[in-house]
Amino acid sequence: MAEALVRFEGVRKAYGPKGAGYAVKQLDLAVQRGELLTLLGPSGSGKTTTLMMLAGFEQPSEGRILLEDRDIARLPPHKRGIGVVFQSYALFPHMSVAENVAFPLEVRGIPKADRAARVARALSMVRLEGFGERRPSQLSGGQQQRVALARAMVFEPPIVLLDEPLGALDKSLREEMQYEIRALHQRLGLTMMYVTHDQAEALTLSDRIAVFEGGLVRQLATPRRIYEAPANGFVAGFVGENNRLPGRVIESDGPMVRVALDCGPVVEARIVDTGGAGSRCFVAIRPERVAVAPVRADDLGEGALAARLTEAIFQGDHLRLRLSLGEGGELLAKRTVGGGPVPEIGAIAAVAWDANQALAFSA
Ligand code: ADP
Ligand code: MG
Repeated sequence: MAEALVRFEGVRKAYGPKGAGYAVKQLDLAVQRGELLTLLGPSGSGKTTTLMMLAGFEQPSEGRILLEDRDIARLPPHKRGIGVVFQSYALFPHMSVAENVAFPLEVRGIPKADRAARVARALSMVRLEGFGERRPSQLSGGQQQRVALARAMVFEPPIVLLDEPLGALDKSLREEMQYEIRALHQRLGLTMMYVTHDQAEALTLSDRIAVFEGGLVRQLATPRRIYEAPANGFVAGFVGENNRLPGRVIESDGPMVRVALDCGPVVEARIVDTGGAGSRCFVAIRPERVAVAPVRADDLGEGALAARLTEAIFQGDHLRLRLSLGEGGELLAKRTVGGGPVPEIGAIAAVAWDANQALAFSA
């Protein structure tokens, strides 16, 4: 069992009068030493509030936060020794890169003689050796964010908090920086708490992901578990693409349930959190798990459903197939290019999936 560096215990946060609601409703969360934990969720779900409480810029309304087993409620931000990188937490434009990075050391009273070596080390960590004399305005957006990272790490904090640090960068630079942050985290064994609303970014970077919705953590697990075994319908819909087929429970049998889809067909799925017979639910199936084949001589094949192919979009490494299923049902399938014959647009196709890959959630 890894050691917890940070613990949120029964933390709640209301900005205004509590009757007006909580930005964070209930938070019990441990950050393990050395991990990169991502808070992933839609806008307004409480991610930044959580980070701000740990950094000390906001106070919990209830509960406590422990850093290395110490309650930090009374510590002001600069005494918590936590590094922060915020999208809006810009560099000081009138200072050189080296002065920016040295700033936290100065604030902490580190003697001038020691600063230069530490600044040089932090700049080399983010591959910016030789950039110390430049002004932030002479750097690209990606380089500026690397300076911000160096500034957050220069005093060797036990944990670095990053709030949508790549939000202002364009897509290719953002992806490059994701790999860079991941490499830095692994090379230095840094503990990081990373906030994003971008699920692809969360999957790329994280050791674990906490999926936030409405001020609550809906699931905390590895990227793989979050993607392959979402704990509820919210997570299934928020992380990765998923088909969502609404219907009604017919009967359950052990871990499986039979569902009458609103669009007509009856399918089998693995139960996640469905209710009893007659209750509303939906079946989630990933597009890459849906097999699509042309129908030969009116024979759909065992267990397959008939669907009409309405669109096929070439995406380079895969095809996106859009199908209509029964009465008003829509199904998206992804298949690798060169993976066998594709039905004609407008033709009836046989669609099938492994029932174990179909998950049933209450609706
Ligand atoms: P996220 O970072 O997930 O987008 P936030 O933590 O910023 O979410 O916000 C959570 C909720 O708290 C939102 O409803 C937001 O409007 C509210 N909120 C955030 N900051 C403040 C604030 N300083 N004063 C009042 N309400 C706030
Ligand atoms: Mg935010």
